[in-house]
Amino acid sequence: MPHFVRARSLGFALLLPCALHAQSLTSQVRTWREAREPQIVREFSDLLAIPNVKSDTASLNRNAREIAAMLARRGVNARLLENGEWPPAVYGELKSPGATRTIVLYAHYDGQPVDPKEWQGGAPFTPTMREKRGAAWVDVTVPTSGRMNPEWRLYARGAGDDKAPIIAMVNALDALKAAGKRPTVNLKFFFEGEEESGSAHIEPILERNKALLQADAWLFCDSPMHQSRQMQVVFGARGAMGLELTVYGPARALHSGHYGNWAPNPGILLAELITSLRDADGRILVKNYYDDVVPPTPAELAAVRALPPTDSALRQELLLAGTEANDALLAERIMLPGLNLRGMRDGQVEGLAANAIATEAKASFDFRLVPKQTPAHVQELVEAHLKANGWYVTHAAATEAERLAHRKVVRLTWARGDEATRVSLDQPVSQALTATMDEMLGKPVLRLPTMGGSLPTSTFERILGAPLVVFPIANHDDAQHAKDENLRLQNLWDGIEAFASIMTRMDAHWPKVTP
Ligand SMILES: [Zn+2]
Repeated sequence: MPHFVRARSLGFALLLPCALHAQSLTSQVRTWREAREPQIVREFSDLLAIPNVKSDTASLNRNAREIAAMLARRGVNARLLENGEWPPAVYGELKSPGATRTIVLYAHYDGQPVDPKEWQGGAPFTPTMREKRGAAWVDVTVPTSGRMNPEWRLYARGAGDDKAPIIAMVNALDALKAAGKRPTVNLKFFFEGEEESGSAHIEPILERNKALLQADAWLFCDSPMHQSRQMQVVFGARGAMGLELTVYGPARALHSGHYGNWAPNPGILLAELITSLRDADGRILVKNYYDDVVPPTPAELAAVRALPPTDSALRQELLLAGTEANDALLAERIMLPGLNLRGMRDGQVEGLAANAIATEAKASFDFRLVPKQTPAHVQELVEAHLKANGWYVTHAAATEAERLAHRKVVRLTWARGDEATRVSLDQPVSQALTATMDEMLGKPVLRLPTMGGSLPTSTFERILGAPLVVFPIANHDDAQHAKDENLRLQNLWDGIEAFASIMTRMDAHWPKVTP
């Protein structure tokens, strides 16, 4: 399809003077960065060298103090928002005289647990630069001056998820200062220390600092860029909720020859329960489940169809002859509610297999929620569905009396759920950010209506009430949450340019409200 048709359908317009303005800023930022790549990498490495796993509170606190100091060095009014025994959030404020808009830039400094044995080099907190030679990634020395290969990657826990945006933001401030430019929006920074443990104690921080955290919009700088390595703006995230479930069989394991065909087998009952919830095409079969679900808007569908095609390459890589729902697009599928079977357990297999009927079978699920669905309503619908299918539902270990009274007994344990968030593509913040990126890139930035995964966005939206857009800078193949997490240097360089544009150009693109 001709490119301009797509561009026009997204309301993309190049305003020449602005574009020139943005290009000159971007090229100034680029020239500035090219002259000091080793220094930028050194500051990044120093931050990555501070361990950031949940169990290590002292190190998390060191991260927070170091980041506050990094902000302060840039003239940002920075401090820690303490949270008792839990990791603090780092807060920073940079007022811009005359600015009428305020945006908050969010990132998190904590990371997923590590098993050093699994990592190449065995030291996830010894940041290491590597270059790809053949199939291998080989250690290279960071030079003290001059340019670096932008395909080099810096390896360490937190490199991609999610310390890179912090480094990109502070360097954007440096680059602007060097270019004699000031941000044209009021900037607030909020760097969380508990994202990877589900933002378990974020609520009191947000509640206590509601006034401080007021803004026109939040930019959640987390997660990876598009698989095509192009920049994307993501307008929401799905909510998530976990469910553990136990189905009961006989009180003691039974010989399958002597008792098979007589004693109910909990594994078979569980299989029946699972297929009653969801079919092989991902359709959730719970009655009224889709009543809450708002269909994608024409603008969202157009945005999805304008994304570079990556599905067939992904299928090749994953050895999938086909995908659910007749090979529908991944980006469309993640706009729908999801029900995933995380795992199941019943008896034993292979060497441990016994000719027996087990006493119970277990399954674990995660639900992915879309806007308008609430965890409470999902729970209500699923339980009503199970009851309608003849299940006796309990939330505690089933008693002897319950097992004697009901043929099919299931115990449900629901985890705390989070709602989805999604802003529309024509909200002021959406328009301001996409226009800023379109201008910087000289072509439309990719627009992803939602990410499939979940972020703590709904907690922020509920307590603070500001619209929230996700703006990722990390490479999609950054191995986040896994061993050998890394950041591709070009992604950091692009991130610096993007934040410099956001800080100076978003205000100009913010739709004016006519009174
Ligand atoms: Zn993250």
